[in-house]
Amino acid sequence: MNDTATIADVQIKKSMYDNVLEQLSRTAEAIDLNPNIRKILALTNSEIIVYFPVKMDNGEVEVFKGYRVQHNNILGPYKGGLRFHPSLDINDAKALAMWMTWKTSLAGLPYGGAKGGIQLNPRNYSVDELERITRRFTYALGDNIGPELDIPAPDVNTNEQTMAWIADTYMSTKSPLERSNNKHVVTGKPLGTGGLAGRDRATGFGVYLSLKMFYQHRGEELSGKRFIVQGFGNVGYWAAHFLVNEGAVFYAVQDAHATLINENGISVEDLLDHSKPRLNSIKGFDGAEEMDPENFFSLDCDFIIPAALGNQITTGNAAAIKAKVIAEGANGPTDSEGEKILLENGVTIIPDILCNSGGVIGSYFEWLQNRNGEIWSLDEVMVKIEKKIREAFENVRLTAEDKGVDWRTAAYIIAIKRIEMAYEQRGIFP
Ligand code: NAD
Repeated sequence: MNDTATIADVQIKKSMYDNVLEQLSRTAEAIDLNPNIRKILALTNSEIIVYFPVKMDNGEVEVFKGYRVQHNNILGPYKGGLRFHPSLDINDAKALAMWMTWKTSLAGLPYGGAKGGIQLNPRNYSVDELERITRRFTYALGDNIGPELDIPAPDVNTNEQTMAWIADTYMSTKSPLERSNNKHVVTGKPLGTGGLAGRDRATGFGVYLSLKMFYQHRGEELSGKRFIVQGFGNVGYWAAHFLVNEGAVFYAVQDAHATLINENGISVEDLLDHSKPRLNSIKGFDGAEEMDPENFFSLDCDFIIPAALGNQITTGNAAAIKAKVIAEGANGPTDSEGEKILLENGVTIIPDILCNSGGVIGSYFEWLQNRNGEIWSLDEVMVKIEKKIREAFENVRLTAEDKGVDWRTAAYIIAIKRIEMAYEQRGIFP
């Protein structure tokens, strides 16, 4: 990484954490939040940093830096993803952990919020190395995670395979008698390892459902709406898949490697077939043309789904956005300043803590399924996920209308009031 990139990176990371604190402050003012609870929520409960050595394929040892930030657990065990990304640092993990606390609260789940991961670029390692890195990270975290304490899940550059390695490593450290009771230490596992049918599509399904309900309330349909997606990973692919099945037109996409456009529509399934064997890169796909990445967010469309990293919509591009709806598949894709511009321009933002909550809702059902020794069918699961998303969506919509506030503020009001109530009922020990 060169010096310029390092400086830009630091600025981006700082503002992601700043954004979440600013969102908390805004809500605290709006609901006159108990100042003692505000103090607690502005800080994290624990921030774990581990350095751990791993033997590489060439026999050399590399030392990695891993994080787990546990923000708050007043509503239940900590819950949140693990990300493998070179830009991940403690401030990212803190911001992302806080967003998880609000998200689980808004969804009405018995969970708190956490986030973590390893600062690395997985493209630089073989599958065997990634397995050893993941297992050694799990071992280094030890009993700082656990099925009733802190339950990780997939996030950027981690997937069901990563979760299977974590579950296996964690369970292997327990006595034979206890092993099976620890399967729900992670969610997002493969089906054969206690995974939930439908967990793979849960987040993208939630993004699609939020948009469907949003347009229904305006007396409009998804069919014929034109949209673009940033990020063609788990969230971006599944969101586009469900939307296109409903007749919406997917016509531009950007990932870490390329930006593609086809005015007549891009085939979601062909793009997946192209990207899968290329370590998920969309570059070189012949069903669309490359375009200037700088012009991506200003393309003429009905809605945009940012489904990659944080701080993608900022003062640098917000004013040029023509879409009237932003459905936040990613966590924190819009920074506070960018958001002000969008709101002034009459753009509705369906906020991350609502829009991408299908993932953690699916994770909750996987956890329950493991805890109760049950196996549910895909149909059962999708009905359960849909019910929860519909409830959260309606709560946010009605609060936004009642209070005359934007959707993010409405979502925060519901989430933080639930946490405030739990603190007021339980009090502060001792
Ligand atoms: P993923 O690793 O499967 O996909 C990430 C995608 O983002 C890839 O297509 C990658 O190329 C792209 N990307 C990375 N850097 C980029 C850049 N600078 N510009 C453009 N594209 C870039 O990850 P995912 O699980 O789909 O997660 C995507 C987002 O959704 C993250 O913000 C994550 O926190 C959030 N999220 C994920 C889940 C889940 O269940 N996986 C749940 C809730 C929220």
